[in-house]
Amino acid sequence: MKHPPLVETLIEAFTCLPGVGPRSAQRMAYTLLERGRDDGRALSAALSQAMDGVRQCKRCRNYAEEELCPICQDPRRDPGLVCIVASPADVLAVEQSGEYRGQYFVLMGQLSPLDGIGPRELGLDVLEARLNEGEIQELILATGTTVEGEATAHYVLDLAREAGVNVSRIAQGVPMGGDLEFVDGATLAHALRGRRPFST
Ligand SMILES: [Zn+2]
Repeated sequence: MKHPPLVETLIEAFTCLPGVGPRSAQRMAYTLLERGRDDGRALSAALSQAMDGVRQCKRCRNYAEEELCPICQDPRRDPGLVCIVASPADVLAVEQSGEYRGQYFVLMGQLSPLDGIGPRELGLDVLEARLNEGEIQELILATGTTVEGEATAHYVLDLAREAGVNVSRIAQGVPMGGDLEFVDGATLAHALRGRRPFST
């Protein structure tokens, strides 16, 4: 049996989500059509508003609705201290540690040349420009210890060296290859306090 075209299009659309295959997509579409029309309309409106209204902060690349995100706009945050993270979820993890008063730079990924993710895709040209402005005194690397995380860390280290900026790295208590979002706040606070100068 073939679905009516509109239903087929809806099912197809759900498969763009991570971990959602054709069967799950079909279940989602049926659920909304059978007994969730209002939820479906709300979902549609929220998607549309977010896709049009959410952009990336000009300074740190985190999601924002204005040119600058709330953290970059906050005068109490130290602009001399910048924590490099792979994703917006990692920003939340570091914020929940309650330990950090600096700013961030969000890569939205890690270096992975085979997947076509190079320095420009991660905004590392933007970071380089910021480093050369002279305001940043210390970079804290919190990019994880996977192969991609290591490659990214070394690339950032080279940029910082050229600009004469100190680099440290959180380490203690953060599992190998672990994503920050799965590390609890107390462990992350400890890892931030115990950060070590990074060099090779
Ligand atoms: Zn920002």
